[in-house]
Amino acid sequence: MSSILKPVQTDETTTLAQQEPLTTAAEQTDGFHLVIDALKANDVDTIYGLVGIPITDLARMAQAEGLRFIGFRHEANAVNAAAIAGYLTKKPGIAMTVSAPGFLNGLVALANATVNCFPMIMISGSSEREIVDLAQGDYEELDQLNAAKPYVKASFRINHVEDIGIAVARAIRAAVSGRPGGVYLDVPAKLLGQAMDAAAGKKSIVKVVDPAPAQIPAPEAITRALDVLKNAKRPVIMLGKGASYAQADADIRAFVEKTGIPYLAMSMAKGLLPDNHPQAAIAARSYALKEADCVMLIGARLNWLLSHGKGPTWGGKDHKDWADKKFVQIDISAQEMDSNVPIDAPLAGDIGSTIAALLKEIEQSGFDKPDAAWTGAIKEKSDANVAKMAKTLSSKSSPMNFMTALSAMRDVLKTRPDICLVNEGANTLDLARSVIDMYEPRKRLDSGTWGVMGIGMGYAIGAAVTTGKPVVALEGDSAFGFSGMEVETICRYNLPVTVVIFNNNGVYKGNDVNPTGGADPAPTVFVKGARYDKMMEAFGGIGANVTTPEELSKALTEGIASGKPTLINVVIDENAGTESGRIAHLNPQSAAKKK
Ligand code: ADP
Repeated sequence: MSSILKPVQTDETTTLAQQEPLTTAAEQTDGFHLVIDALKANDVDTIYGLVGIPITDLARMAQAEGLRFIGFRHEANAVNAAAIAGYLTKKPGIAMTVSAPGFLNGLVALANATVNCFPMIMISGSSEREIVDLAQGDYEELDQLNAAKPYVKASFRINHVEDIGIAVARAIRAAVSGRPGGVYLDVPAKLLGQAMDAAAGKKSIVKVVDPAPAQIPAPEAITRALDVLKNAKRPVIMLGKGASYAQADADIRAFVEKTGIPYLAMSMAKGLLPDNHPQAAIAARSYALKEADCVMLIGARLNWLLSHGKGPTWGGKDHKDWADKKFVQIDISAQEMDSNVPIDAPLAGDIGSTIAALLKEIEQSGFDKPDAAWTGAIKEKSDANVAKMAKTLSSKSSPMNFMTALSAMRDVLKTRPDICLVNEGANTLDLARSVIDMYEPRKRLDSGTWGVMGIGMGYAIGAAVTTGKPVVALEGDSAFGFSGMEVETICRYNLPVTVVIFNNNGVYKGNDVNPTGGADPAPTVFVKGARYDKMMEAFGGIGANVTTPEELSKALTEGIASGKPTLINVVIDENAGTESGRIAHLNPQSAAKKK
């Protein structure tokens, strides 16, 4: 249904109450209503944003028209929420910001969505084109369209009210088709107030047909890939977050089980098959990557997180060396193939269609499972590493260190495999990734491709709104600082989010000192003994300060069960933690030392 109202002013003082429906024959609609109609026609139900000139009325009208508007305290968090909603649903998440500074605040998260291949659209209000283009100094003047371009998959500006329908359709298709990504949609203030005939407006709305069409690989690519896999002696499968995103869970599991190939999972692909699956090689990752003679990548890129497929991690001699391995890769982007190492069997297609085609072929032609010597060696290595980890986890420390606290968290989270775990930090991210097992797809949401800090509260809110289930956000104290003010948003919408902060008084750790003896703290140090739990209490949520694993278990269990906003401040030894967690080698000094 198209909504019809008297054309409204872009002036913020115009409120909904002042806009009376027209009853005359020549009914009119406007830019505000057409944006909303276009989103609704494409089944958008939620907008994540932050209001101000010129989008305040757009947000009000969206809410009045039945869309959910989740208002944030900083644009980056709203855009992160939309991005993770896109990842979880395969539909573009929608974010909305004001012009120039609000747009730029959101752009960082929009770029992060693009880098991670999450489908979303950021809609930003913008100022007068004529003034911007002549650089005459408008309120919040910025050439937003061009500023966005390098960081997004596509960007569009709508100049005429009659183009809103087609522009929204284009933005949706750009976000979800092929390799998903972030799209920028520029909405000048003047456009929102533009009026047009309501019937013509209704006709201009476009419902996108098949926004993410299947991409089916050629039969010869399927045969070639299976030949490579069948000739391998020590194959391994690497699942990436593209595989989780694809929502082809049952077929991926059937493929792994029918081939009998051991599998590894990138961080956000953990749980696609349960981490305790008998074919999981996760605890023998280093061994499997070094020893494998064939690696099948399913929705995972050979970027820095996989040492670019080269060097000692992969059994090569030095970091430039391509190890002697065959690679099979499934990716929707054909351009991804050969990005770092030669791909022997590229499968350019969507994961759902490609896995279905591979399954069909092995049902017909059969597949011999890998030799027991290979799977047995992986199992032996896994068992030894799991036993080693169990020993570390059982050692108690007071004050708690990361492992003591994680041991308690792991036991509680095991009882709720159905809920999302958001995770960021340095040590808090790296250690939690290995300690906390995942059992269901798309439940682990973390710093992703950039290893970025600041996704915490945005992802937690996006996940809670999208799934309607409890969410746990496990945060380093430094990481939490980037989005911490959103605890107010969590309380305002009464979301079932339990934030757990591993508080060791600083970035990496809190024991650094200023070498000059001056009054300023060292660059990595925060206020000692800070009580983050009080922040949640300030807005009416539940706060807990815990110093033992027993207290942590109890507070976490209660937080999840209550379904209420909760923040648990976990006191961690300020001497615990290592510089930069597991990526210390990327610091210039460590890199220089190595040379
Ligand atoms: P990870 O960080 O888990 O290794 P990446 O983000 O590096 O994962 O890789 C995800 C890959 O998955 C991207 O190259 C992207 O093009 C691909 N991808 C995303 N969705 C699909 C899909 N539906 N089918 C095939 N490939 C996909």
